[in-house]
Amino acid sequence: MPNLPFPRSVPASPGCANGSFLKLPGHLRSAHDVTVTYFRFVSHAAKTGRKPNILIMLVDDLGYGDPGAFGGGAMLGAPTPNIDHLAAEGLKLTSAYATPVCTPSRAALMTGRIPARSGLTRPLLASDHPTKNPWADEVSAAKLLSENGYITGLSGKWHIVEGKQGGDLKIVYPLDTPKQMGNVDQDFANWSVDFIKRAAKDNKPFYLIHAFAKVHFDNYAADGYEGRSAAKLPYRDAVVEVDDIVGRLTKTLEDTGQADNTFVFFTSDNGPEEDSYPDSGFTPFRSGKGTTWEGGVRVPGIAYWPGIIKAGRISDGLFDLMDLFNTSLSLAGIKDKIPKERYIDGVDQTGFLLADDGVTSRQAVFSYNQADFSAIRWENFKAYFKVIQYDQPFANISMSTFVPVGVAPWIFDLYRDPKERITRSNGDYEWLYGPVLQLQGAHAATFVKYPKKDIGLGIGGGGNPQ
Ligand code: CA
Repeated sequence: MPNLPFPRSVPASPGCANGSFLKLPGHLRSAHDVTVTYFRFVSHAAKTGRKPNILIMLVDDLGYGDPGAFGGGAMLGAPTPNIDHLAAEGLKLTSAYATPVCTPSRAALMTGRIPARSGLTRPLLASDHPTKNPWADEVSAAKLLSENGYITGLSGKWHIVEGKQGGDLKIVYPLDTPKQMGNVDQDFANWSVDFIKRAAKDNKPFYLIHAFAKVHFDNYAADGYEGRSAAKLPYRDAVVEVDDIVGRLTKTLEDTGQADNTFVFFTSDNGPEEDSYPDSGFTPFRSGKGTTWEGGVRVPGIAYWPGIIKAGRISDGLFDLMDLFNTSLSLAGIKDKIPKERYIDGVDQTGFLLADDGVTSRQAVFSYNQADFSAIRWENFKAYFKVIQYDQPFANISMSTFVPVGVAPWIFDLYRDPKERITRSNGDYEWLYGPVLQLQGAHAATFVKYPKKDIGLGIGGGGNPQ
């Protein structure tokens, strides 16, 4: 049994939540001297005098195993050559994490905060009557980048409206027919291509989140895409369309001479939607969207930047989508603008992603079901304090319960049991109770000074007395 000396302190201040509170012994230390290999990035900036562009491609409900680079592709009758190209020529992350559903993942990515802190813990429903605007006192990466010379854009699934900074929202795209719904990603792609071209023309750095509406059910085919996949299924046809758009956006970067000055990150906002099974995504892990099981929160992650990120890298280091908040600001040279008066859960992963031998700066991933804490990923282990159980197969959202575990956390070794089939907590992993309880305790303590935000959602929200 390893002897693990775990301290009992919590971060002294927000903005320092970079995992440094948990000091690991040398052989397990994931913090790394990230000053080693910024050379290419620094010399690139010095040479070009330009701040890098940031393009985040966020697919909706894409399974970890859907892209060919992550085990799917041709095997599923839906090859993904363009996504695979990014992985082959960049860094493939095998332990990237989102939240279980759409809204909190997007909020975390934009704010660098666990959604329980921003109040954006679940999608707003037509019947909801929020008591406050969750964004009124949040600070997004786009806001900070916009204030520091960047052109910022958000294209895709955020409800079909158009708005400009300081202006009102207007509905620009009625989704009345399957044909309109089928073609919506083509329209999003047209907008993003135009945005990238405009940024190049204006010679200004850009920050663009391109958020696909696909491959969320129902997947109506875009013009020319019905039956395009070898599988000839609506979901797989949609994967082919997404891959084509990834290729189109990548080519636009090349055609406008910006490929070598753009940090690209490709990922998904949560695991595959099993409630629509079998026309849904693929994951090699347990369960899917709506749960904190690995199938719900582990997503494909690719960082791509030709000439800066070494081609063909693969890492199992921990990455949380909320790290894109800190990392984007760091890449833009405005890390000092990261808010300090609030708790930021994201960490700067610039060194991890850019250095040839980069190691994650994140010590653990904390998974929530809406506003409620559920599990911790630490090293190659996952420890559950509350679990989502489903009463019917493929009913993770429709017919499930969220329940406390019994006398001890359920612990899985994800290298030994990646599908989380059986815990054997007390027999094999009793030695892990100490570390995971300390992680959970330190994490819970951060909410004393920085409590959850209640925006009036009731069930699933920060004020839910559950
Ligand atoms: Ca989603």
